[in-house]
Amino acid sequence: SSINPTIQQPVAGGGGEEEEVLSSEQYSCVSRQQLHIIRSSYSSSKPSPFLLSRLKEYEQRHKRCDPFSESFNRSSRELIRVQNSPDSLDCRYIVWTPVNGLGNRMLSISSSFLYALLTNRVLLVDFGPDMVDLFCEPFHNSTWFLPRDFTFKGRANTPEFRETYSLGKLLRREEEEEEQKKEMPYVASLLQLFLSYDNDDYDKLFFKSETQPLLEKVPWLVLRSDQYFAPYLFLMPCFRAELDRMFPDDKETVFHHLGRYLFSPSNQVWGHITGFYDAYLAKADRRIGLQIRVFSLDKTPASLILSQVINCIQEESRIIILPNATTTTTTTASSSGRNRTTTTTTAILVASLFGQFYTELNKMYKEWNEKAGATVVGVYRTNHEEIQVLGSSSHNMKALVDIYLLSMCDVLVTSPRSTFGYVAHGLAGLTPWILQSQDIEDEEQRVKEPACRRGVSKEPCLQFHANYYDTNPDHREPGGPVPVIMDCEDFQYGLKLV
Ligand code: GDP
Repeated sequence: SSINPTIQQPVAGGGGEEEEVLSSEQYSCVSRQQLHIIRSSYSSSKPSPFLLSRLKEYEQRHKRCDPFSESFNRSSRELIRVQNSPDSLDCRYIVWTPVNGLGNRMLSISSSFLYALLTNRVLLVDFGPDMVDLFCEPFHNSTWFLPRDFTFKGRANTPEFRETYSLGKLLRREEEEEEQKKEMPYVASLLQLFLSYDNDDYDKLFFKSETQPLLEKVPWLVLRSDQYFAPYLFLMPCFRAELDRMFPDDKETVFHHLGRYLFSPSNQVWGHITGFYDAYLAKADRRIGLQIRVFSLDKTPASLILSQVINCIQEESRIIILPNATTTTTTTASSSGRNRTTTTTTAILVASLFGQFYTELNKMYKEWNEKAGATVVGVYRTNHEEIQVLGSSSHNMKALVDIYLLSMCDVLVTSPRSTFGYVAHGLAGLTPWILQSQDIEDEEQRVKEPACRRGVSKEPCLQFHANYYDTNPDHREPGGPVPVIMDCEDFQYGLKLV
């Protein structure tokens, strides 16, 4: 595998490293070039011309406002001014901070980017060491890294930061102080948007259109979110027209386009992906990705999940049909006029933290192959980490390898409630088969039927209780149905674009 020149995080206001960053970014993002070629040969969905023009405009803005720019320095100076409304700043930012696993993170980064597109902000990321080597720089000739000596770098995920800077706390304080109910006491230069799973009703006020004008004047927004909150943006009247222009026909491919635009694996990760793909998946006629995420093996024994997976792929979806029945097909070779038997081969990629699923499936299909007298089904895996690790670069790289390999499959079976699976099928642009929820009570140690169901959309689910919009359907945009479902297939009260 090729080695990626490490992408350096910049120092605020330049400092001699610009060249290093640009050179590593510019000359070495192999995945971006190769994915472009691979995908353009089969991707049916194309981004709209308006989305493309907004992306182009964004790139110019990013370059103009990036951490090497004078505008960035000007905006940074606002952070030390406490009570004055900012001078006319041409650059405003949304800074993404990490929460939870890689799937969660990729979903919230893409949502932040959509918000940045809608509000003319610049997206910067506060990656820790566990993420800096995962992706290529997404924006041409620029960087998205928050400078490593920046004032709140690495500090924004503390309870104190939330208490001091979060929009929710600010709105709550205002409500408590009756006389200041309607207006902010001053234009803050920094506010945190607390939109992770543990947010509260005050934090959710971010999703009211009426709150947005307050935020417009704030140069620095710091986001804490582990969620794909894009569906909420579609429910906000203030953004609806713009979103309809960006995604005129198809609301199912929002993450698909944004995720593909933003996330190109670094050369190191890409080397692992292509090495594995070429060795095991490329030659097969069909690639089936099985994403088996088990949140608790104590609650749901592996044997039960395995039966469920087998029921899903063989019975419910009939993705895999017994090899001796129909995977061996007969075709006629037209030139010679003679009959020739060809074998349709299937590669199954098993992505899971736990090794036993691969072991069992491999054993099972090996026996089938022996009976069929040919390798009709091959079972493969890249790794099995056994436990989820937070803060490890190599662990995250392996996760990204699995996500990308899944996204290069032709059919996907995913686990319910897993953002890891959402990212894989979203990048692939596939509607997955979703396994039935694994929360099976002890007395019901049997596979629930159906073992899996076809999803309703290619989009990820926002795993929030949507209480604000649930109870206020009138807030939805008049004059047309909002293309959002209120309960995801795998998450009651979740939201999903369809
Ligand atoms: P979620 O918890 O399923 O919603 O997905 P996340 O990606 O947010 O968090 C799960 C984390 O566990 C991943 O980021 C990986 O670190 C790890 N993980 C889970 N499933 C897999 C897998 O199939 N392969 C690898 N390599 N890591 C996994």
